[in-house]
Amino acid sequence: MALMKIYTHPDPVLREKCTEIDQFDDELTTLVSNMVETMYASDGIGLAAPQVGVARRLIVLDVSSSEDRGRKVLALVNPEITMQEGELEWDEGCLSLPDINGIVTRAEKIRVDAKNLEGEELTLEAEGLLAVALQHEIDHLNGVLFTDHLSPLKRKLVLREYKKLQEESEPS
Ligand code: ZN
Repeated sequence: MALMKIYTHPDPVLREKCTEIDQFDDELTTLVSNMVETMYASDGIGLAAPQVGVARRLIVLDVSSSEDRGRKVLALVNPEITMQEGELEWDEGCLSLPDINGIVTRAEKIRVDAKNLEGEELTLEAEGLLAVALQHEIDHLNGVLFTDHLSPLKRKLVLREYKKLQEESEPS
């Protein structure tokens, strides 16, 4: 396993519409292992393939509390939201937009169709944090970042803050 580089905004790979996966081979398994390791190393609860520079429809998630981490990892190929209901607000962050966050309105409950690493179809229902994380990661596969869901004013403020923090962290 190997840690992968996490691409951050405004890298263009984060804006790509990712392509479907139709090869369920060792390469996919290795990519998933590396993404899972990268997610844990960054203390993330989810990671989408474009965030590691791969514009394919693949996400990994683990929203469990710290003592369960590593035991309930989900890897979903070509995930698609097929049902959503209700509404909730969540204070979201993103490994591709380090150090900023913002409150996003999401569906409270969703159903997702996807494939597992063997190419078998599966359906899962989620609510609360898992539903939010799934919506956030699936957005990445369509080139959407959480900041796109904020009001124009809020987005401007958050992105200005982000730019400032990025400039401060880069040696000039
Ligand atoms: Zn994200």
